[in-house]
Amino acid sequence: MTGFDAGNLLTLQRAAFRAQGTPDARTRKDALSRLEHMLLANIDRMVAAIDADFGGRARAETELLEFVPALRAIRHARRHVARWMKPQRRSIDLVFQPAKAWVRLEPLGVVGIVAPWNYPLLLSVGPLCDALAAGNRALIKPSELTPAFSTLLHELVADAFDPSEVAVIVGDVTVAEAFTALPFDHLVFTGSTAVGRKVMRAAAENLTPVTLELGGKSPAIVAPDYSLEKAARSVAFGKFLNAGQTCIAPDYALVPNGQAQVFARLVLEAAKRGYPTVSDNDQYSAVITARHRDRLNAAIAEVRDAGIEVLTFDEQPATSAKIAPTVVIDPPSECMLMREEIFGPVLPIISYHAIDQASGFVADRDRPLALYLFTNDARTRDRVLDTATSGGVTLNGTLLHIAQENLPFGGVGPSGMGAYHGYEGFRRLSHARSVHAVGFVNVFEKLGPPWGRVSAAISR
Ligand code: NAD
Repeated sequence: MTGFDAGNLLTLQRAAFRAQGTPDARTRKDALSRLEHMLLANIDRMVAAIDADFGGRARAETELLEFVPALRAIRHARRHVARWMKPQRRSIDLVFQPAKAWVRLEPLGVVGIVAPWNYPLLLSVGPLCDALAAGNRALIKPSELTPAFSTLLHELVADAFDPSEVAVIVGDVTVAEAFTALPFDHLVFTGSTAVGRKVMRAAAENLTPVTLELGGKSPAIVAPDYSLEKAARSVAFGKFLNAGQTCIAPDYALVPNGQAQVFARLVLEAAKRGYPTVSDNDQYSAVITARHRDRLNAAIAEVRDAGIEVLTFDEQPATSAKIAPTVVIDPPSECMLMREEIFGPVLPIISYHAIDQASGFVADRDRPLALYLFTNDARTRDRVLDTATSGGVTLNGTLLHIAQENLPFGGVGPSGMGAYHGYEGFRRLSHARSVHAVGFVNVFEKLGPPWGRVSAAISR
C-alpha cells in the first residue's frame, strides 16, 4: 500500500469514528481480544518472518521479548479498560456551587503508529493495544527493514480487523514520510532521535500531537558497594539479548577505577555462559543488515587501531551476519562508540573515580532512555537519581522496568516525549475532556453584569 492509500484509509477511519462516536468498553475489549487472537494463532508464522528479516533471530527472544509483553499488555488493558474509562468526578470550589464537574477520557480519533525494525511485533502491537483501549482507530507503518514481518502483519491485521478500524501500510521511507505528513489525531513514533525530529516537524504542520519513543545511550553505573560479578551478569543479560539491538540495552558501563579489567572479564564470562558460540548458535541473534554490521565493525576497528583494549571471544569475520559479544576498555569520548548510540553487542567500559563523577558523566550528555544503577546504598541511589535523569530506571538489574504494565514507559529530552504502557498509554491516547454542569442557580449570572464591587472576590 502506498502513502496515497494511507490518506484514503485515514479518511475512511475518520468517517467511521465520527459515525460510531465513543465506543463502549465491550467494543474495546472485543478489539483487544481480536488482537490477542491474531497473535496467538500466528506465533510460528510471525517468528519465522522476523527470523527471515534478521537473517537469524533467536526464537526464544521473539517469544519472550515480543509475544509475552505484547500479550501481557493486551490482557492488562482488557482487564482494566472499563475502570479506566469511567468519568472522573472532580470537586468544585464553593464559589461555583451548586454544580458538578467531571472529566471524560475520550478517544482522540485515528492514531498513526510508526514502528522500527528491532522489535517489529512489540513496537507495532504495543502502541496499537493502547490506541484500541482508548477507543481509537489506527494505521500502522512498520519498518522497511522487516519486509517479511511487515507484509505478514498487513495480511493478519486485514483478517482480524475491518480497514475502518485498523490497517497496516507497508512501504519504504518515502511512504513513511507521506504517512507522517497525514493529519492524524495523534502520532506514536518509535525509532531514532534523528528521524524523530523529522516526524515532529511533519506533525507540526497538522498540529498533530506526537509521542516520540526514541533512542540514546543508556548507561549502567556500578557503584563501589555492589558486587561486580552480579552487575556484570545483569549488564551482559541486557546487552546481548537481540545482539544489543534493544532501545534500552545498557549502551556503556561506568565502573570504579581499577575495576574495568575485572568487569570486562566477568561480562564476557557471563556472555559466554549464555552464548558459548556465536555464528552457529540459533540462540544468538544476527545484526539486522550488512550496513548496520559495517557500522559496528568500523566502530570496533576505530578503537582497536587507536590501541584501546578490545576483548571478545569466538570473533567473527566482517562478512558474518553476527558480531560476537565485545567489550572495550576506557575508549575516549570522541570515538564513534561513545558519540553514537551503539545498538549492537559492543560494550564500552568507562572508569570513574567517584560516584559523583559517574553521574556527572551521564548528566553531561543527552538524557538517555534508561539508566541502570547497581547499588545497595540508599544515599548513593538517591544521589545518582537526583543528579542524572533518564526516561526510566531499573535498579540492580537491566531492562525490567519496560516490562511493568503499571509503570509509564518513555524517554525524556532527546530520548523521547510522552509515555505509554498500561493506564498511561490509555491516558496518552485519550482526550481529557472537562465537563462543568451548572446546578439550579448560576450565581455569576445573578451577580452581573452590571457588576457591583468585585474587590471582595479579589481579596479571598
Ligand atoms: P528509524 O528512525 O530509522 O526508523 C523508524 C521508522 O521510521 C521506520 O518505520 C521508518 O520507515 C520510519 N522512517 C524513516 N525515515 C523516516 C522519515 N524521514 N519520516 C518518517 N518516517 C521515517 O529507526 P530504526 O533504525 O528502525 O530503529 C532503531 C532506533 O529506534 C534506535 O535509535 C532505537 O533506540 C530506537 N528505538 C526506540 C525505542 C523506544 O521505545 N524508545 C524502541 C525501539 C527502538
